[in-house]
Amino acid sequence: MLNFELKNPTKILFGKGEIAKLAKEIPQDANILMLYGGGSIMKNGVYDQVKDALKGHKIEEFGGIPANPEYEVLMEALKIIKEKNINYLLAVGGGSVIDGTKFLSAAANYDGEPWDILRKPVRTFEGQGMPFATVLTLPATGSEMNSGYVISRRGTGEKLSSGGPGLFPVVSVLDPEVVRSIPKNQIANGIADAYTHVLEQYMTYKTAATLQDRFSESILQTLQEVAPKVMNEEFDYDAAANFMWCCTMALNGLIAKGVPTDWAVHGMGHELTAQYGIDHARTLAIIAPSHYRYNFNSKKEKLAQYAERVWNITEGTLEEKAEKGIQKMEEFFQSLGIKTKLSEYTDDYKDTAKKVEQAFTDRNWLGQGEYRKLTPQDAYKIVEMSY
Ligand code: NAP
Ligand code: FE
Repeated sequence: MLNFELKNPTKILFGKGEIAKLAKEIPQDANILMLYGGGSIMKNGVYDQVKDALKGHKIEEFGGIPANPEYEVLMEALKIIKEKNINYLLAVGGGSVIDGTKFLSAAANYDGEPWDILRKPVRTFEGQGMPFATVLTLPATGSEMNSGYVISRRGTGEKLSSGGPGLFPVVSVLDPEVVRSIPKNQIANGIADAYTHVLEQYMTYKTAATLQDRFSESILQTLQEVAPKVMNEEFDYDAAANFMWCCTMALNGLIAKGVPTDWAVHGMGHELTAQYGIDHARTLAIIAPSHYRYNFNSKKEKLAQYAERVWNITEGTLEEKAEKGIQKMEEFFQSLGIKTKLSEYTDDYKDTAKKVEQAFTDRNWLGQGEYRKLTPQDAYKIVEMSY
């Protein structure tokens, strides 16, 4: 097992009605900016619940953060933070609103040009961000209990991630009731995103991190188990609760400890969102199978373990089991209504591999993924395989 440090300071309030407790968690004298997205919180009652909980607090609002939060929009929010002397942020939304808020938490306490925080290599904001809380409305990203975020820039077509130890939410409210109003395609996205988060941390060379493997496998199996129930028309509170907690556990740092982790699927996936606007989770379902086939030799033992333990595949050689595991993964994404080939999303895909290779080269991303071995040329081949 690799050496590791673990500190996750985020307090979680989980369950029905927990939004009402927000008032006790946010200091009474805080000058809050509440941030949200395109308006789903107005329709499903979450906005009213939050406003009601914080009726004794001073609170400004900033709505309109789009999916794949945009730098240009966030700069407008930063102006309000400065003008109104905001000292506490509150994200009410999915990963996009939370990521946008996290970036603002860093930008508010950063002296230079905010975009520079993202240009540097990942995890370079070493300072303490402005404190922020979150009310999660879409289980998927794990952003509610981690310190990472991803921001897009319309002007340049970039989508970059960053983070830092001072960017964990102070408190996050997870009320599974929010799942009621989520459209099924977004629920499918949430399942696929969380599933791939586990894969990114688990599907590496075989390591000695036995407990982390078992944690990962149990999250994958639980997601598979609850998927049909949360995709069903009828709302099932317990299925929603398990789905929500899986998504948080998939990316709150726990299963990443002591293992190499990969994250190249996300790296390449972000390029597909930047180029075509394909939903984040769908880009992962496009890239993951090709990534595992391309890196078959280094990952085949883990792939076979995944097939055996997660899918009960007991027959065949190690290689056959490993390939069967990739097939099962693809079928799982497809069972959610998610297409797994780039050509099923756009006709204009032929130059994609070249563009990804170029973007990685331009950014000097010469070694991505597990043990930083994946070159821009490897990314070219993987993206080409995903057509
Ligand atoms: P999202 O972009 O936050 O939301 C997608 C859509 O779902 C929005 O249109 C939103 O509408 C709607 N929605 C959210 N909650 C809803 C509800 N309860 N009822 C009805 N509609 C609802 O989706 P996401 O998948 O959570 O976030 C994706 C972003 O997170 C991507 O940019 C991705 O790169 C990033 N990400 C971050 C991490 C991390 O660790 N930080 C990890 C993976 C991915 P409204 O706008 O109207 O609310
Ligand atoms: Fe993700």
